[in-house]
Amino acid sequence: MGKALIIGCGGVASVAIHKCCQNSEVFEEICIASRTKSKCDALKEKLEGTTKTKITTAKVDADNVDELIALIEEVKPDVVLNLALPYQDLTIMDACLATKTHYIDTANYEPEDTAKFEYCWQWAYKERFEKAGITALLGSGFDPGVTGVFSAYALKHEFDEINYIDILDCNGGDHGYPFATNFNPEINIREVSAKGSYWEDGHWVETEPMEIKREYNFEGVGMKDMYLLHHEEIESLALNIPGIKRIRFFMTFGQSYLTHLKCLENVGMTSIEPIMYEGKEIVPLQFLKAVLPDPASLGPRTKGKTNIGCIFRGKKDGKDKTYYLYNICDHEECYKEVGSQAVAYTTGVPAMIGAMMVMTGKWNKPGVHNIEEFDPDPFMDALNKWGLPWKESYNPVLVD
Ligand code: NDP
Repeated sequence: MGKALIIGCGGVASVAIHKCCQNSEVFEEICIASRTKSKCDALKEKLEGTTKTKITTAKVDADNVDELIALIEEVKPDVVLNLALPYQDLTIMDACLATKTHYIDTANYEPEDTAKFEYCWQWAYKERFEKAGITALLGSGFDPGVTGVFSAYALKHEFDEINYIDILDCNGGDHGYPFATNFNPEINIREVSAKGSYWEDGHWVETEPMEIKREYNFEGVGMKDMYLLHHEEIESLALNIPGIKRIRFFMTFGQSYLTHLKCLENVGMTSIEPIMYEGKEIVPLQFLKAVLPDPASLGPRTKGKTNIGCIFRGKKDGKDKTYYLYNICDHEECYKEVGSQAVAYTTGVPAMIGAMMVMTGKWNKPGVHNIEEFDPDPFMDALNKWGLPWKESYNPVLVD
């Protein structure tokens, strides 16, 4: 079918690349390009001989638009799948525009010097992508990603109007370390130490970090504490789900994680303000990242399951209705299959599926679009086929 250029070769990219290689009919050829080429070469070596997908590798600094354009012109991919960091979203979108190539990512742009993530920067490319006749699919991971597909599916098949969405992200995995993050520590800590917020009656309601706590009994995991966070899909779902009154996002955290995080915050280690250390400027959070376990190293040690999904409340045929869509994923099974734990797996699989939707033309809508703006049905089928089968319930316990 075609060729994908995958930028980044970290935890999420490694899963997406394994999945592309399982899906050689669609991904006949992939080029893996990242800052450290040796990581791309090591993955190529591991996968070659196990797949019909032809793999090439390249070195690229994705902060540099000219380098990206030169690489895209050389590789000539049908789509660019951005699995580097959110800081690179705009440079990669610029290069896609210049070369008229479709774009897919899993996280919205965030300037490196302010921990503020929102869609305005990427939505500002809408008209230019429309004019160029190319599609940008934003947020094709799990959350954002599958949570948006679930919302579109619920609206299409189960409701006339959705009024309330609670997104519940539970990681019941245990990696045995006192403190580690399941994906890029810098991005993860920026996200969880920010103020919380939710959408209600047409506006944002801001909370202190971890101010709102609930308990929930997750299938496959058990009872967990979960905390309200700001999360990027709330912003797009608030626009794209007509009749919505409230959207909240909750994530589970264990007490040990929170105690460590508080201590690191209190001593200034999570700050993104540069400081001088022995004559050199360093960013405390980046230094912390360097001393924490690499998320990729958690794979062989993590046991337990994740359970991520959305509880919808709304109206069907004039009656109140409740509906829960969720996926349960097992850390050890993911590791057996692709050598990564479930947090990377649940993001990398939808990234591959999003790239497949655009490459096969099933999703083709010039402009810049969030995932819930597309027909959810082929994506929902692909989740079942490619390792993230979903479950549904018409009588879930609600979050107060
Ligand atoms: P990692 O840190 O493991 O990987 C990031 C990769 O990007 C590394 O290979 C890194 O290269 C590469 N990279 C960083 N900067 C550049 C650059 N300037 N030029 C080229 N390559 C670069 O991160 P993850 O795999 O954990 O996360 C990847 C993305 O997935 C992030 O944007 C994250 O926010 C998103 N994510 C989305 C989720 C969702 O559900 N939607 C959930 C989890 C993550 P090198 O190693 O050489 O530095």
